[in-house]
Amino acid sequence: KVPGASEDRQELLHTLMDTYVKNDVLSIQQSIVNHVEYTMARTRYKFDDLEAYMATAYSVRDRLIEEWNDTQSYIKEVDPKRIYYLSMEFLMGRSLLNALNNLDIKDQYTEAIQELGYKLETLVEQERDAALGNGGLGRLAACFLDSMATLNLPAWGYGIRYQYGMFRQVLVDGFQHEQPDYWLNFGNPWELERLNVAYPISYYGHVSVHDEGGRQVFRWNPGETVTAMAYDNPIPGFGTNNTINLRLWAAKPDREFDLQAFNTGDYVQAILSKQRAETLSSVLYPDDRTYEGKELRLKQQHFFVSATVQDVVRRYKEAHDDWEEFPEKVAFQMNDTHPTLLVPELMRLLMDQEGLGWTKAWDLVCQTCNFTNHTVLPEALEKWPVAMMEKLLPRHMQIIYDINWRFLQQMRQRFGDDWARIAKLSIIEETEAGEKTVRMAYLAVIASSHVNGVAKIHSDILKHDVFGPFFDIFPERFQNKTNGVTPRRWLAFCNPPLRALITKTLGSERWINDTEMLKELREHADNPAFQKQWQDVKATAKAKSMALIERLTSVALPKNAMLDVQVKRIHEYKRQLLNVLGIIHRYDLIKRMSAAERKQVVPRVCVIGGKAAPGYEMAKRIIKLVSAVADKVNEDPEVGDLLKVVFVPDYNVSVAETIIPGTELRHHISTAGTEASGTGNMKFAMNGALIIGTMDGANIEIAEEIGEDNMFIFGALADAVPALRKERAEFKPDERFLHVVNMIRTGQFGWADYFHPLVDSITYSDYYLLANDFAEYIATQERVDAVYKDPAHWTRMSIMSTAGAGFFSSDRTIAEYNKDIWKSKPCPVPTYSD
Ligand code: PLP
Repeated sequence: KVPGASEDRQELLHTLMDTYVKNDVLSIQQSIVNHVEYTMARTRYKFDDLEAYMATAYSVRDRLIEEWNDTQSYIKEVDPKRIYYLSMEFLMGRSLLNALNNLDIKDQYTEAIQELGYKLETLVEQERDAALGNGGLGRLAACFLDSMATLNLPAWGYGIRYQYGMFRQVLVDGFQHEQPDYWLNFGNPWELERLNVAYPISYYGHVSVHDEGGRQVFRWNPGETVTAMAYDNPIPGFGTNNTINLRLWAAKPDREFDLQAFNTGDYVQAILSKQRAETLSSVLYPDDRTYEGKELRLKQQHFFVSATVQDVVRRYKEAHDDWEEFPEKVAFQMNDTHPTLLVPELMRLLMDQEGLGWTKAWDLVCQTCNFTNHTVLPEALEKWPVAMMEKLLPRHMQIIYDINWRFLQQMRQRFGDDWARIAKLSIIEETEAGEKTVRMAYLAVIASSHVNGVAKIHSDILKHDVFGPFFDIFPERFQNKTNGVTPRRWLAFCNPPLRALITKTLGSERWINDTEMLKELREHADNPAFQKQWQDVKATAKAKSMALIERLTSVALPKNAMLDVQVKRIHEYKRQLLNVLGIIHRYDLIKRMSAAERKQVVPRVCVIGGKAAPGYEMAKRIIKLVSAVADKVNEDPEVGDLLKVVFVPDYNVSVAETIIPGTELRHHISTAGTEASGTGNMKFAMNGALIIGTMDGANIEIAEEIGEDNMFIFGALADAVPALRKERAEFKPDERFLHVVNMIRTGQFGWADYFHPLVDSITYSDYYLLANDFAEYIATQERVDAVYKDPAHWTRMSIMSTAGAGFFSSDRTIAEYNKDIWKSKPCPVPTYSD
């Protein structure tokens, strides 16, 4: 009932309110044009592509808001167990096409926009990527949101609204330069600013103890407070009415704090404090594989965790007046250790604000928290100096000490005076130099109901190595949840011709939400007519990929060449350097060939792309080496179209969406035992690219699913790696390896001095075992060429890749998380007109 309206107006008002958003072409045009005029304040008769994109985005947002509101009020009514996914990174990419597709209104919008005189493809290109993440970990969080919405789970994501996302990478003379990503400069039509959802976030100060009716009460008197303000980003599911929320926090100055300063006349100080507050959420740390021990990063972690915990507790208390039910209504998932301050912050809130005792509070924390580990690289495991933590978060440090003390007491009862064993379990580590640090991963393991790795091999390494001592104590906590990727963005939407072919072959679009159905493609793998259609689809995608690569690199590419791609963050363990050595070897071979032999060569376009962390010198040298090799090879008339090498700058989600569908061969060649999972491998496999790779991360499961004979596998196995490392000094590398390394060393690509550290790194310690794997890598590349000459064989392998990639849908991963960890129930919003 509309309050205030008379009875005879009720029906009319309801009709009006219920039908504001309609999805016929004319209504869509009206809504776009209205946004041009009333939101953008431009004339409705003349607007450029950017304005047309913005108005279109606002018009789509209206539709998202409707679904968002319906979903949130329905969930509130049902009151299910809610899932909170906490992540410092969400690598979302663009939203327009994803929203149109998920809401199933793309066709109407395409027509509406065309009639207005614009092209949807052009408008899509106007959107800046939301690059609030580094790579795999952040993109995983984004894929998970899509799957949680699609599976109708009552879930929310929580993170930080960075003012500057991932830096933009530009190449100047082959060197990486970093530029700030001003992604918010033209506004962000996909977010809703929630001025009324704001929480104080405190830092520094001291803790005082008070006696309240015989109970010891701790009070934190902070020295600095900022405000966290919410920005909501609607996340629509596919084939459902549900639209879930990604709530990102932005730092604003604390009003009370400021006013005090103004009132005492310190006007300048007040402005400075405002600026300082805002820097908190200004920048994403551009490093996903090394632990960055900076106070600002710790501040960011506390900032988003504290805001999230306050928000969750407020929401819980709105509907419940008793803490007993908390674990039945709330599940937290910590994406890596970055949100681990959740543990002491929730303890603090429950004890110091809600008045619960330690035992009860700890019980609630342990029942609700869960932790995903993402890396086994020791340099990436977060450890914060106790001194820094004590200063910045004094109450949290007390709580961490308490958690540790109580835990070690229990272990003492269990293991007696086996101090060596007990020390291995301590959250507090003391370095040889006497510095004490907090091992965030240990805190997360001790406080979580469930701890998981992200691929089978990785989860095994966690159990038996990284968290071995904890696995012995709590074996039931440890699980594996092999990563996945959303088949919407990474197949159906980024590769429409392949979507159409699969749909035609399988008879419906149901496979998009049930990717196990892709297995049925196996029946067609040897059918020549189907192979022909498959080749046509791949050729269309390849032409698009090549065109983009040419545009980004200004290198003309031979269209008949095999498109061979390695795009991902640049890191020594991912071994882009091994790829470059292989390219140099190929170049060297071609140079020595007779004209007749050259006729037998399979032409290749070798693409490498990815960002290096700004402080990661070795990775930056690898980028320069790729460019230096490219300069030499691409200009060599003897080589011509037989080999082209390019470095694609500024690799991001949008670039991935075009490059992946057209790729034919994909490199995934990390040293076995170093890549937790990889998710790029899954995207390429889904799109029918063949993998040349090592038995590492999820490659092992990809081989299980699609068959080892449909991949090109080489290299040492993880079990062998430790021994090989020990014996590396005695290992005699292949002559060809020594030769290509020598070519770099002696300056055949210029910059000999600059490349020396790279050459040394694989000549002496060779921690990532390039020398050991080189010969097998080269032999495997020869197999790749041989198969490529047989299109029926290659196409069969490509079809088998897509057919076997169904397991790697993030819908499967999320369904497993929900079944084994969160134990919530889907909450599909009913279609009221039904
Ligand atoms: N960057 C982007 C834009 C991605 O889409 C992905 C994952 O697919 C990655 C990085 C991580 O790639 P990989 O798993 O190959 O390291």
